[in-house]
Amino acid sequence: MTDHLNPYFELVAGAMTPFVGFFTSSAYSRRAGEPGISDFVAGNPQEMAVPGFVDALRKWIEPQDKDWFAYKRSEPVATQAVAATLRQVIGLEFEPDDIAMTKGASTAIAMILRTVVGPTDEVIYITPPWFFYEGMIRYNGAEPVKVPMDRETFDIDVEAIAAAITPRTRALILNTPHNPTGKIYTPARLARLAEVLTAASEKNGRPIFIISDEPYNRIIFDGNEFHSPTEFYPNTFLVYSYGKTLLTPGMRLGYIAMPPSMPDRERLRIAFLVTAMAGGYGVPDAVMQYATPDLEKVSIDIPHLQRKRDRLVEALTEMGYETHTPEATFYLMVKAPVEDDIAFTEKLAEHDVFVLPGVAVEMPGYFRLSCTASDAMIDNAIPGFQAAMEEVKAGV
Ligand code: PLP
Repeated sequence: MTDHLNPYFELVAGAMTPFVGFFTSSAYSRRAGEPGISDFVAGNPQEMAVPGFVDALRKWIEPQDKDWFAYKRSEPVATQAVAATLRQVIGLEFEPDDIAMTKGASTAIAMILRTVVGPTDEVIYITPPWFFYEGMIRYNGAEPVKVPMDRETFDIDVEAIAAAITPRTRALILNTPHNPTGKIYTPARLARLAEVLTAASEKNGRPIFIISDEPYNRIIFDGNEFHSPTEFYPNTFLVYSYGKTLLTPGMRLGYIAMPPSMPDRERLRIAFLVTAMAGGYGVPDAVMQYATPDLEKVSIDIPHLQRKRDRLVEALTEMGYETHTPEATFYLMVKAPVEDDIAFTEKLAEHDVFVLPGVAVEMPGYFRLSCTASDAMIDNAIPGFQAAMEEVKAGV
C-alpha cells in the first residue's frame, strides 16, 4: 500500500499524527457538537457570525454580469483594498499587483513553500508551532528545523535561530502574534533577526525568506502594538487570513503580500500565479473576493474576546492552574496539573469541557484553550475545571 503513496507522504502523516489522532480518537472526536458541552478546542465560532459578514456576502452574491462566477485570478477590487489597508497599517507602499489572494493562510503558506523551497532545502520554524508547518514543509521534500521559543518571554530566540541556519536554509516561518502563546514578537528582536538573516543570506549567496504568518495581527489586547516582520526585513512574505478577524474559517479568504522592498517581485508575481494554478487553484471564490473591501471593515468583538480571556485567566489561576496572560490571538496555554496532557484532556472531557492537548502543538504537559468559546460555555466549564483539579489533588 505504502509504495503507492507520494514518497514524502509517510513523513507528512507522521508529523500530523498528534493532531489527527486527537480529532479522530479522543472523547472530542466522539462528542464535538453535542449540546451542553464547553468547546475550547479550536478557533471556531461558537456563536452566530457577525452581521457585517453575512451582509457583505448577501450583497456580492447577486451577479452583475455574465462573468461574475467565471474563473478568477486575484481580483483587482480585492488586491486594491488589501494594499490600501497595508499601506495605512504598516506604512510601506504595498502595490496591488504584489498581493496574491488565497484560500486563507494555509493555502498562502503552502503556495510560498511550493514556490521558493525545494527538496534539498531546510525551513526553520519556531516551536511550539501552528500544527501544519512540519507537514507542509515535508510535502516539498524539504527538511523542517525546529527552534524553541524563548521559554521565559515566549519571544523568538534570535541566537538560537542564528545557530540553526546552515547553507541549506531557505526560509524561516514566523507566526506573530503567536498561536498558541498569544505572544507578539518584539521590534527589538525582529530588528536583530533581520541583521542575522541579512548576514546569513549574504554568506549563503541566496536569500533566506521570512514567511510571516500573521492571521491574528488584528486580534490584539490591552492596547498592545503589533509589528510585522515586513517592517524589518525585505525578503518577507506577509501571510494573512480573514478567518480569524471575522471568525469564519470555513469561508476561505486570505492573501500573500510582498512589500515593495522584496527583490525580484515581478518574477514572484508570475510565480504565485503559476503555483496557484498548478497547485490546485488556490484562488479564493469570486464572491469572497468581491466582498473583500467590505470584509476589511468587519471584525469580531475584540474587547469581548479580551474579557473572556481575563475571566478564564482569573478563574483558572484561582483554582491553582498555572497560566499566563496572552497579548493577542484567541489562545491561552495552561499547564496541565499532571504530566500527561492527553490524560488530563480526557479527564476534563468527563466534565463536558473540551480543550486541545499540548502535544498537538509540540507543548506536552500543557493544554490550549480557545477564548472563542461563548460566555455560556465558560460559565458551564468553570465547575468542570475546578472538579478536574480537585480530582488531581485527591489523586483520582
Ligand atoms: N497560521 C496560524 C498560526 C493559524 O493559527 C491558522 C489557523 O488556525 C492558520 C495559519 C491557518 O489559517 P486558515 O484557516 O486561514 O488557513
